[in-house]
Amino acid sequence: MNKNSSNKMALAPNTSNKRETVCIFGTGDFGRALGHKMIQSGYPVVFGSRSAQTSSLIPKDAEVLSHAEAAQKAAIIIIAVQRQHYNFLTPLAEILHGKVLVDVSNNLKINQYPESNAEYLAQLVPGAKVVKAFNTVSAWALQSGTLDASRQVFVCGDDMEAKQMVMDIVRALGLTPLDKGSLLAAQEIENYPLQLFPMWKFPILLSLGLTAFFFFYCLIRDVIYPYVYENKDFSFFIAISIPNRICPILALILLALVYLPGVLAAVIQLYRGTKYRRFPDWLDKWMLCRKQLGLVALAFASLHVLYTLVIPIRSFVRWRISSRIVSQALNNKTEPLNTTNAWLSDSYLALGILGFFLFVLLGITSLPSVSNNVNWREFRFVQSKLGYLTLILCTAHTLVYGGNRFLSPSSYRWYLPNAYMLSLIVPCIVLVAKFVLIFPCLDKPLTQIRQGWERKPQYSE
Ligand code: NAP
Repeated sequence: MNKNSSNKMALAPNTSNKRETVCIFGTGDFGRALGHKMIQSGYPVVFGSRSAQTSSLIPKDAEVLSHAEAAQKAAIIIIAVQRQHYNFLTPLAEILHGKVLVDVSNNLKINQYPESNAEYLAQLVPGAKVVKAFNTVSAWALQSGTLDASRQVFVCGDDMEAKQMVMDIVRALGLTPLDKGSLLAAQEIENYPLQLFPMWKFPILLSLGLTAFFFFYCLIRDVIYPYVYENKDFSFFIAISIPNRICPILALILLALVYLPGVLAAVIQLYRGTKYRRFPDWLDKWMLCRKQLGLVALAFASLHVLYTLVIPIRSFVRWRISSRIVSQALNNKTEPLNTTNAWLSDSYLALGILGFFLFVLLGITSLPSVSNNVNWREFRFVQSKLGYLTLILCTAHTLVYGGNRFLSPSSYRWYLPNAYMLSLIVPCIVLVAKFVLIFPCLDKPLTQIRQGWERKPQYSE
């Protein structure tokens, strides 16, 4: 969930010791798990079932009655039954009048029905107050108590009092309610558990595409070209050299892509003279997955660090160093220290170390447990200012790596430049655009626009 979605109803929990009886319709996996958890939290529980016989699986402190009898004992009824069986509720409409019905159901497919299950329930029992909750918690997690990573329970409903009662129960169970608004939000809440890493799809597909592109690019330049022109077999580069080229390239490009949508958004707002018009859909979606893009970039940067650490123990590297020493000895000629190269090499490493350190810091601050402990201004400072500093350091690291052979014609093979040169295109565009945007003539109107100021449309006579 993003940082803006806050608990809109963070009221104090119900501290009175006496808990109201809760009724649960359905003695299936979820009904039993929820009933068990409620009894542990001090709620008297009564099950409404098609068969009023109790079984060893049902919590022993709970009563099992017919639906009608159970409903009369509680103001809140949790419907732990699949949506396709909801029509058993129609004959109970009179008894359920004025009761709070909690819809916990999920579907098998996204947008399976035209209306959400909770709205369907409200149509079936118009006199009841329907609240959607608990559908994102699994029966297994409730039973085993492994709720550490998913304590959030989305709650929505049209009746504020009913919603508040359900949120009190959620808190009493040791979970965190998150008010998602009216029952209109139920469809989104029902789709939520069916989504498979929605925010990760774009970053992962993009990095797979870029990895494939740069792999073949490096293969052509570093393996096929020497084989064709020099008859040298460098196919072993596929194991470490090529991955160690691809990882920093992807880390840099993806990090730049985290900041590019912000620059595009600024340009669009300046052009339109208002912040009150929606961005194109693709830009909205891109903005929403910036954190995931950054984390994938960090993963590539970490891999680059690991690959770099093994360079000194690689057989090829050891062979190259020893043959250079032998050739110097045979020629009785020592290569003098090239201070310029020493400077370039040390600066390149220093920039890489600092860049990676800030990269890790950015990753740590994006963790919910850390970001929840800083205010919005602090979060923006870290993610924006520190993020740009990371981008500058990593771009400089790559530029210095090129050093004095940066644009040398000998570095082209089949007219193809070194892959790291391609990786500089997007970061340089982002940094130059950001630099232009901080000029007062652009920064001032942009700040005003973001504070709500609107440029009046110009009409021609
Ligand atoms: P389940 O094991 O299939 O149990 C559903 C219960 O519904 C049955 O035990 C039965 O209880 C009752 N039922 C079945 N057919 C009925 C009918 N024709 N008329 C009236 N009642 C009927 O399902 P579940 O896993 O407990 O899931 C229940 C609800 O919770 C579903 O809507 C599901 O989407 C939701 N949910 C489940 C989980 C989970 O982890 N399982 C997580 C979140 C949400 P009686 O025999 O006592 O009548």
